[in-house]
Amino acid sequence: MTSADVLILGGGSGGYACALRSAELRLSVILIDKDKLGGTCLHRGCIPTKALLHAAEVADSSRESENFGVKTTLEGIDMPKVNEYRDGVVARLYKGLQGLVKSRNVTFIEGEGKLVAPNTVEVNGVNYTGKNVVLATGSYAKSIPGLEISGRIMTSDQALNLDYVPASVIVLGGGVIGVEFASVWKSFGADVTILEGLPHLVPNEDISVSKALERAYRKRGINFTLGTKFASATQSDTGVEVTLEDGKILSAELLLVAVGRGPNTANMGFEDNGVATERGWVVVNERLATNIPGIFAVGDITPGLQLAHRGFQHGIFVAEEIAGLNPVVIADINIPKVTYCEPEVASVGMNEEEARAAFGDEVNVYEYNLGGNGKSQILGTAGFIKLVAQKDGPVVGIHMVGSRVGEQIGEAQLIVNWEAYPEDVATLIHAHPTQNEAMGEAHLALAGKPLHAHA
Ligand SMILES: Cc1cc2nc3c(=O)[nH]c(=O)nc-3n(C[C@H](O)[C@H](O)[C@H](O)COP(=O)(O)OP(=O)(O)OC[C@H]3O[C@@H](n4cnc5c(N)ncnc54)[C@H](O)[C@@H]3O)c2cc1C
Repeated sequence: MTSADVLILGGGSGGYACALRSAELRLSVILIDKDKLGGTCLHRGCIPTKALLHAAEVADSSRESENFGVKTTLEGIDMPKVNEYRDGVVARLYKGLQGLVKSRNVTFIEGEGKLVAPNTVEVNGVNYTGKNVVLATGSYAKSIPGLEISGRIMTSDQALNLDYVPASVIVLGGGVIGVEFASVWKSFGADVTILEGLPHLVPNEDISVSKALERAYRKRGINFTLGTKFASATQSDTGVEVTLEDGKILSAELLLVAVGRGPNTANMGFEDNGVATERGWVVVNERLATNIPGIFAVGDITPGLQLAHRGFQHGIFVAEEIAGLNPVVIADINIPKVTYCEPEVASVGMNEEEARAAFGDEVNVYEYNLGGNGKSQILGTAGFIKLVAQKDGPVVGIHMVGSRVGEQIGEAQLIVNWEAYPEDVATLIHAHPTQNEAMGEAHLALAGKPLHAHA
């Protein structure tokens, strides 16, 4: 098949979700990828990093088991074995995804594609056409000008393939990817220092959450400098040396560059065919349409949050839009975010600052400390669930920090997206003893009837 209702360039989270949903809607689909189906998330992102984070949690549990009266000795990390476990997880999911795509009769074309006309993508000399074209070519790990990625200076792509635990690492960037790798390496026994140019770690989160993570990292012995910019780095056979703008010099075995991801759109014929881009990002309206009729863009190549589940949602949205189902737009602010470091960070909706900017004094905020939550005490974790609500109105944001709080994001995003009032949630029952109870307790308190909390 060389022509289809939907022609998709890129088989990552955004592209393959669009393929699967389009096929469900009885549209014919061609999906093109130059690499493995599943993209960054499955092969170089979410899944492999979360497998490493799980191994890190196991290491921490062994190290701290005496606190629970269990005697173990952590002999060390067998990195090839950790990688084997991680690769096994990825391989099983990859097989499942290939089976899904095949069973829905999606035509998968392997090869590098280029847009050669608004409705045509060329792959290995063959032209494929679509009534609709969906651009889903994702993102790549950026560096900073003058900082070459090679040898001991690496991005997440190379860091994921290390077959040893470095003795020491400098992590450039305290955003999601930086703090996750810092967490893994510290748990595996490395000496870790994060360099963040902005005033806080995870700078896109509510400031109280950033501060709590900084406290927890300090306690874990993860070093970080905040508010000082990186100046330069050099490497030798044995290590790297990093100079900061204030003249401070740091050295370590490796440097991880985690300064964000850029859109993967260069030399693919997008601009040549009139598709509007801005600093490489494909410009779309809220319905994910580009300026060229019949061409849509989804996932990381569109400006906004770079998250796999945003890609899934984009892909589904565009398939339904093409099928004429008029799907509902979901604003980026209401997309749940989880950072899987230890302790975890999870949030959805407006942070306190954003809510105060939008509603002035008409904002209620409540922070429920996990100190009052039985399950969190059993696990030995600290943190909180912070609610941000409009006065006499719905909850507009939920912000959490603590071990395993990422698991609470499901209910949090229902509350925010369904515009629930604190009183609505307060009447519902949260099972005891779970960390989820903290969600109920926070809403009880905000509704004026705190149970295990001071008024
Ligand atoms: C280390 C790391 C950890 C992450 N952890 C998480 C997480 O825990 N949770 C989360 O939600 N998100 C996470 N992400 C982000 C997530 O991986 C991305 O948001 C998601 O993969 C974006 O999906 P996409 O479809 O837009 O692009 P991608 O997944 O990047 O897919 C794009 C696809 O297009 C293909 N392609 C590109 N150009 C061409 C071409 N010219 N021809 C043919 N094919 C082409 C590529 O081969 C690729 O398969 C993480 C990312 C990284 C790097």
